Amino acid sequence: MENCLFCKIAEGQIPSAKVYEDEHTLAFLDISQTTKGHMLLIPKKHVRNTLEMDEGLAQTVFARLPKLARALQKATKAGGMNIINNNEEIAGQTVFHAHIHLIPRYSTDDGLEIHFTAHDSDSSALNSLADDIRSEVGQ
Ligand code: 5GP
Ligand code: ZN
Repeated sequence: MENCLFCKIAEGQIPSAKVYEDEHTLAFLDISQTTKGHMLLIPKKHVRNTLEMDEGLAQTVFARLPKLARALQKATKAGGMNIINNNEEIAGQTVFHAHIHLIPRYSTDDGLEIHFTAHDSDSSALNSLADDIRSEVGQ
């Protein structure tokens, strides 16, 4: 897609530190290096985010994660990693070409903070919401 940063990276028009490439996917180091080795995995085909992927593309892209994650962990000697996919601005997406972050972790104060806040929920509200989602997913 014209004027898409990650399409330009996928086409080699903008340089990147590539770590993996095949017919349908590309992985390269994120310029921000939230932690050392912070990597992005993208489909070469332009889609906005996971909400726009069909199952075939998702299968192709997400299937690459285990081997990339293992390679990243071995190369950086990180203790673990967070794999994050931001969808839409409200969720922190700033580049609107689908991508998955692989962020190696070295310590709890290494530059990435993730905090899940627990809220009270009653089981009838949860069941009703689960019903709504099941119906959307066709079950
Ligand atoms: P988002 O916030 O959309 O989930 O992530 C976009 C990521 O793209 C950010 O972590 C940002 O650092 C990275 N990024 C933005 N521009 C470039 C660039 O030109 N090259 C590389 N390698 N990464 C970029
Ligand atoms: Zn694109």
